[in-house]
Amino acid sequence: MTDFTYAVDADGVATITWDAAAKSMNVMSLEGFAALDAHIGAALADPAVKGVIITSAKKDFAGGMDLNVIATMREGGAQAIFDGVMQMHGVLRRIERAGMDPKTLKGAKPIVAALPGTALGIGLELPLACHRILAADNPKAKIGLPEIMVGIFPGAGGTTRLTRKLGAMMAAPFLLEGRLSDPKAAKAAGLIDEVVAPADLLARAKEWVLSAKETDLVKPWDAKGYKMPGGAPYSPQGFMTFVGASAMVNGKTQGVFPAAKALLSAVYEGALVPFDTALRIEARHFTSVLMNPSATAMIRSLFINKEALEKGANRPKVADQTVRKLGVIGAGMMGAGIAYVSANAGIEVVLIDSTPEAADRGRAHSESLLDKGVKRGKVTAERKAEVLGRITAATDYAALAGCDLIVEAVFEDPKVKAEVTAKAEAAAGPDCIFATNTSTLPITALAATSEHPDQFIGIHFFSPVDKMNLVEIIRGKATGERAVAKALDFVRQIRKTPIVVNDARFFYANRCIIPYINEGIRMVAEGVEPALVENAAKLVGMPLGPLQLVDETSIDLGVRIAKATRAAMGNAYPDGAVDAVIFRMADLGRLGRKVNAGFYAYDETGSRLGLWEGLAREWPKRGARPDLAQVQNRLLMAQVLEAVRALEEGVLTDIREGDVGAILGWGFAPWSGGPFGWLDILGAARAVEICEGLEAAFGPRFAAPRLLRDMAADGRSFYGPATRRAA
Ligand code: NAD
Repeated sequence: MTDFTYAVDADGVATITWDAAAKSMNVMSLEGFAALDAHIGAALADPAVKGVIITSAKKDFAGGMDLNVIATMREGGAQAIFDGVMQMHGVLRRIERAGMDPKTLKGAKPIVAALPGTALGIGLELPLACHRILAADNPKAKIGLPEIMVGIFPGAGGTTRLTRKLGAMMAAPFLLEGRLSDPKAAKAAGLIDEVVAPADLLARAKEWVLSAKETDLVKPWDAKGYKMPGGAPYSPQGFMTFVGASAMVNGKTQGVFPAAKALLSAVYEGALVPFDTALRIEARHFTSVLMNPSATAMIRSLFINKEALEKGANRPKVADQTVRKLGVIGAGMMGAGIAYVSANAGIEVVLIDSTPEAADRGRAHSESLLDKGVKRGKVTAERKAEVLGRITAATDYAALAGCDLIVEAVFEDPKVKAEVTAKAEAAAGPDCIFATNTSTLPITALAATSEHPDQFIGIHFFSPVDKMNLVEIIRGKATGERAVAKALDFVRQIRKTPIVVNDARFFYANRCIIPYINEGIRMVAEGVEPALVENAAKLVGMPLGPLQLVDETSIDLGVRIAKATRAAMGNAYPDGAVDAVIFRMADLGRLGRKVNAGFYAYDETGSRLGLWEGLAREWPKRGARPDLAQVQNRLLMAQVLEAVRALEEGVLTDIREGDVGAILGWGFAPWSGGPFGWLDILGAARAVEICEGLEAAFGPRFAAPRLLRDMAADGRSFYGPATRRAA
C-alpha cells in the first residue's frame, strides 16, 4: 500500500495525493519518498501532463518526518545518513527544477502544493520545493518547521530554501525557534503564497497550474543575479544580521544545543555558496546533528515518549473517565490556574473558596488571562464569554453536587485539607474522585482522612498552571485504578503531559529540584563564587541557576520545607549547611523575587540586576576556584542521583516518565533528554567514576546508587543498546 496516489485529469493536470495508510496524520517515510519520486518522474515524463498538484486526502497535509525513520537511518552511521539525506534533496530538487533546461531555465512543468491543513517539518519542506504554495483558510492549521524543538533542524532543504526565500533575519524565528503560524500568518510572513477558501483549494491549484508562466517556475535562487533578501553575510546589512544571530543563539542556548549551532552554520556557510552546494552543506550539518547523542535523546524524550505518555502509555485499563464537572477548592494561585485551564478545555468548573471575595478573585484570574488573549487577538469576545461562563465561583460546598472530579488547592496544612476533604466528599457523592494538589504532604496520609481512599489521588500542578505543561499524578498506597485513569483522562483533556509516580517525600519533581537548589546554596556556603555556580548551571543547559530558582520560588518556602524536613528526619537530616545560608537570608529579609531582594538584587520594577553584592560579605570567597566541570557535575548529579534513587525505590516506575517529567517539570538540561538520557550519554561506568570523585570530596550524598553500579559492571544503559551505539 503506497502513501501517495497519482491521477491525471482530462485537462492534463496530475494530482499526487498523500494519504498514509492506517494513520490519522501523514508522516513521511523512506518508502513514501520513493513513491513520491516515482509519481513526479511519471508526471514529468508524460507529455500529456501539463502540471502537478501535490495535496493530501486527510484534513491536514503532513505532521513531518517519521522520527522512527531518522532512528533507523542513524543505525547505518554517518555516511548512510548523509547519503539518505542527499537522496531526499535529489527528489525535492527534481520537483523544484521540474524538468527545466538548466541553462535556459525553460521547459519546466508547474508543480503546486495545496495544503488543506497543518503542514509541519517535511510537510513544509516539500511545498517549499514546489513552485507555489496554497493553503486552505483553516485557522486551526499550523504551518512551520518545529524540528529545533526536538533537537534537530530542517534537513530536507527547508533551512536552505527558507533562508534564501525570506533572508536570514526573517527566516530566523521559523528556523531557530520553530515558530508555527496559521495560514494567514504564514502568508503574511512569506512562508506560503496564497490562502484560499477550503472548498476552492484544488480548483485554485488547478487554475494556477494551467495559467503559470515560465518565469513563475524559476525559483529566485535559480535565476540570474539572485541576491539574498536582507543581504548575504559579507554585505553591510547581512553582516549585522549574522553577527547578531550568532550572539543571540549563543546567548539563548549557551552553546549546549548542537542543533542550534549546526543550523546557524548551515545558514551562514550555505549563504556563501551556490544553491546545490548549500544543500550539501545543510546535509553535512544535519548528519552531524543526527549523529550527536543529544538529538537521539531529545527526539526520544520530547517527541516519542512525551507523546506516548500523553496518549496514556501508563493508563490502567479502565472505562473512559473524561471529566464532565470539576470542583476546585481553594481559589488561590494554583486553584485559580487549574480552574482556568479546565474551563478553557471545555470542562464545567465550580471554584470554591472560603469567602465570596476570594472565590471571585480566583475567577477573575481567568478573566485577566482571557483579556490578555483578546488584546493579542488570540481570543474572541465570544470565546472569552464561553470560557468564563463555565466557571462558577462559590463558597457553598453544595455547588459541588454532580462533580466527578474535585481538586483541592487550599493551604498546605493537613488539618485544613482533612476538613475540606470531608466536606467535599459529603457534597459530591460517592463516585467522585478526590485529588489534592499538595506539593509536600504525603498522599497516603491525606487519603486516610477520606471516606474512599481508593478514590483519593495526588494531582500536582506546577506554577504558573497555564504555562507549565507537566502534571505529576501521585498514587497513594490505597489509590485505585479508576482514580489514576480519571487523573490521566483529566490531564489529557487539558492537553498537558502526565507522569504517574508513587507516593514518597516530595514525589518526583520536587525531590530532584530541592537537591539542585541545595547544592548551589552549599557551594555559596563553601565560598565558591555565586556567579560561577549560576553560570555553570546555565552552561550545562539548566534554564535557571539554583540561586535564581530559589529566588523565584521564595526563600521562606525553602525555610518552611527545611524545617518540616528536619522535623521529619531528626538526626539523619543532612542539609544543615544549606539551612545556615537560607535562614540567614530570611533573617536579612531577602526572601526572593517577591520582595525584590534575594540572592539577586532587583530594581523597584522587579527586574533582576545581578547577584546581590552582599553575598560576598556574608560568604566570602574561600580556597581555590573549583573547576567548571566539577561544579556542573555537582549540580547535575545532585538531581540525577535522586532520579535514580526514585527509580530504585519504585517511586518512578518508568524511566520515560523520569526524563519527560524532568524536562517539562523543571527544565532539566533538555539537550540531554533528561536525567536517564544524560546518564546514558555519559555511560554508567563514567557516571560511577564521577560519583566516586564527588563522594570522596563532598560526602555520601554523591554515592553511586546500586543500580548505577550494577549497570556499570554489566555495561548496560537505561534505554538499551541503541543509545550507546548512537553515542
Ligand atoms: P494560596 O494561598 O494562593 O491559595 C490557597 C487558597 O485556599 C486561598 O485562596 C484560601 O482562601 C483558600 N482556602 C484555604 N482554606 C480553605 C477552605 N477551608 N475552604 C476553601 N478555601 C480555602 O496557595 P497556592 O499557592 O495556590 O497553593 C495551594 C496548594 O497547592 C497547596 O497545597 C500548595 O502546596 C500546592 N502547590 C503550590 C504550588 C505553588 O507554586 N504555589 C505548586 C504546586 C502545588
